[in-house]
Amino acid sequence: MDEKDTERFWNYVDKTPDCWFWVGPKGGGYGRLSIKGKGMLAHRLSYEEVYGPIPSHLQLDHLCGNTYCVKPNHLEAVTQKVNNQRRRRKTSYDPDRLRVDLNVAPYYEE
Ligand SMILES: [Zn+2]
Repeated sequence: MDEKDTERFWNYVDKTPDCWFWVGPKGGGYGRLSIKGKGMLAHRLSYEEVYGPIPSHLQLDHLCGNTYCVKPNHLEAVTQKVNNQRRRRKTSYDPDRLRVDLNVAPYYEE
C-alpha cells in the first residue's frame, strides 16, 4: 500500500481496547479494500503492514475469532491444515485457551 492507501485503510478501522474492527467495505465475512483496482482482504493488508508479506502457502488465522478484526497481533499466519484444525477447536470454544493464544507472538511454520 502506498501512503494514500494506508491512510484510506486506517480511516476504516475502529480501534477498541481489544479488537480493531474494520468498518469499511465487507464481503464474504471479511473486511475488504480495493488497492489499485484489486480487491484485498483488510486483515491481510494490516498484517503485511506490520510483519511483511505473508508467504503464499499460509493463511491468516484470527486468534480472537472476530473475522472483521484487523489488529496485527490478533492475527497469525498458519498453514491451511493448522487453520482448519483450529476452526474445529473453536467450535468447542474455550475462552481461557484463547486468552493464552493472544499473548503468543505470530510465527511462521517452516
Ligand atoms: Zn481481534
